[in-house]
Amino acid sequence: MYTGTEREWSDWRWQERNSLRSSAKIREVFPQFPEEERQQVAEYERTRRWGITPYTLSLMEKDELGNPHPKDPLVMQTFPVRGFRLDGARDSYGAGKPVNWELPEEMPTPILQHKYTNKVILRMPSACLAYCGYCFEVERTEDKESGRESSVTSQVWQDSLRYVREHPEVMEVIFSGGDLLLLENSTLEERIADVRAILNVRAVRVHTRALTFNPFRIDDKLVDVLRVHRVTELGLHFSHPNELTADVKEALERFNERGYGSILKMAQIPLLKGVNDDVAVLEELFMKLYAEFQIKPYYLYHGLPWSPAASQFRTSVRRGVQLMNRMKHRIPSVALPVFAIAHHKGKHIVPLEEEGTPEFKYEKDEAENPIIRFKNWKGDWEVYLDRE
Ligand code: SF4
Repeated sequence: MYTGTEREWSDWRWQERNSLRSSAKIREVFPQFPEEERQQVAEYERTRRWGITPYTLSLMEKDELGNPHPKDPLVMQTFPVRGFRLDGARDSYGAGKPVNWELPEEMPTPILQHKYTNKVILRMPSACLAYCGYCFEVERTEDKESGRESSVTSQVWQDSLRYVREHPEVMEVIFSGGDLLLLENSTLEERIADVRAILNVRAVRVHTRALTFNPFRIDDKLVDVLRVHRVTELGLHFSHPNELTADVKEALERFNERGYGSILKMAQIPLLKGVNDDVAVLEELFMKLYAEFQIKPYYLYHGLPWSPAASQFRTSVRRGVQLMNRMKHRIPSVALPVFAIAHHKGKHIVPLEEEGTPEFKYEKDEAENPIIRFKNWKGDWEVYLDRE
């Protein structure tokens, strides 16, 4: 399928350069790919980005014609049309109009989001190492027409730094999707150093999907940059045990070799119907993360409502609660994440009482849609649409 040398294969830039990103290239990589589906991908890519590294393609199960198998968990997450279908009906809350995660009033600069008091999110590139069908940053990452793509001019960067300096309550800066690790080490180092120079910033977190889609990105120099500039935590994203490979393990080993094994590694996991909404799969994922890869399963997120394939991946909140409760007595509690919903007014930890609580109520709206009414971190009542 791909003919890179061993050296090329383990070069993250080679993986990026050779990513499958177009319906035209599908012909080359999968000669027996059904033409009708290829045309659907062509339609998809008119408005959305997609891309899959050769490494990720190599992990996918293939069907009898050598094409990505539609039931494979990585295919389902990343391969448009074959893996996930677009329903075009992104969910939202209450009024039924899609509400993006980035509310305009939270964006003092085009790349800085200030949702919670004590932390800000910086979104550097608008690109990712692969594009997930459940992405809740879809308007920034996948959507070619949203106008939300960030352009990090020198002015935007300086304005963002000034904003953090002028808000002493901000003690944590999070670099999140698109993927910071798509930047070259030298650029990335400048950005992190600038943030680290701000006195009120006590913690710096980097979220990345690199370990799943291009683990070769964790090179020596990157680990040194993270160590020298004391990046506090890596927010790592995994959805299925198949993503935890020997290459991922080797990448994590590099932190020990370069003297930064102590960096906190926390996993954020989306709950996805057909991919991981299953006790055995989640148990294997949580235990592999915790016991074999020394990554703490941190958040299990209910399927994200703004994503292109929301209805395909959605399972109810109550189902998530049931899965969590079944796992409670099967795995060590430290390996169990907290279950959360990502509401645009702020994420909310879901209580594990299956009938709800006085501040987290399972109800129906006027159209008989299941909804949840809950009191958020500010004490305001919010609504969350909870369709199966
Ligand atoms: S931001 Fe994260 S979830 Fe979204 S496409 Fe990129 S890697 Fe996937």
